Amino acid sequence: MDHETIQKLLKAGKVAAQVRRETAMMLSKPGTSFLQAMDSAEEKIIKLGGQIAWAQMGVNDVAAHYCPEETDVGVSKEGDMIKVDIGVHLDGWIADNAMTVVVGNSEYKDLVKASQNALKAAIKLVRPGVQLWELGEAQYSEAEALGFTTVKNLCGHTIERYKVHAGISIPTYNNKDKTEIQAGWQVALEPFVTNGQGMIKEKLPATVFMVEQNKGVRSSYAKKILEQVKPQNGLPFTTRWLTRTLGRGGTALGMRELLQSEIVQPYPPLAEVAQGMVAQFEHAMIVKDKPQVYTRHDDDGW
Ligand code: MN
Ligand code: MN
Repeated sequence: MDHETIQKLLKAGKVAAQVRRETAMMLSKPGTSFLQAMDSAEEKIIKLGGQIAWAQMGVNDVAAHYCPEETDVGVSKEGDMIKVDIGVHLDGWIADNAMTVVVGNSEYKDLVKASQNALKAAIKLVRPGVQLWELGEAQYSEAEALGFTTVKNLCGHTIERYKVHAGISIPTYNNKDKTEIQAGWQVALEPFVTNGQGMIKEKLPATVFMVEQNKGVRSSYAKKILEQVKPQNGLPFTTRWLTRTLGRGGTALGMRELLQSEIVQPYPPLAEVAQGMVAQFEHAMIVKDKPQVYTRHDDDGW
């Protein structure tokens, strides 16, 4: 990785960490609008000199991929467990990070702690040559130590330019995968910890999408959508970006074609199967003898 690339990652990481933290703090106050929080996260990314990869969240049993529509009236409520997952990039070099807050008093503060502990334990092991199962085992034992489990079908991942998930999944339990991680890889570790069964399933409808292939489209709305999301270059986009420029009707028409022709893939919210509460912490890092974690905020402490 050359010097310029590393500088871009560090800058993206700084913005991602600040926006992630400020957005989580906003949402930790009861009565905060989900829509306003996600809009403000996107505005801040730009203001701080980053490019938006995504601003997403999840509430309680929803682990990830929740993105409010324009009409969303959801607000944070006492006892909610809220995940904020922020992606920032510079020319495709991505910083991916997340944290969890509880609103007011919660009986689930231990769950938050368990996810933090799991992330810390895994980061400690990151070095060239460590095997994927070892990172999974470390996360799982921290979850178990506080009486919880990890979500088995959610994983950390490698990252490449304009690719959020670059092909290698980093398990949150010992899945026996002996693949060794290599120096210079960009990886994100993200233990999702739950008091439920430890599995998630999709919960429709989706408001997060990615363009997966380029082919011809018929309707003018499909064309307009592709033009609008072109700068994302394959990174996610969300419904309200479209409804704000094309209206609800136009967006629905265009998206129907794009989904049917499989040009665009939906990424629906992911909910715990037993409706367990889910906590998540995530950092992105460059693999070295001591990993270079580039999404850490001075106030994190994890
Ligand atoms: Mn993330
Ligand atoms: Mn991630």
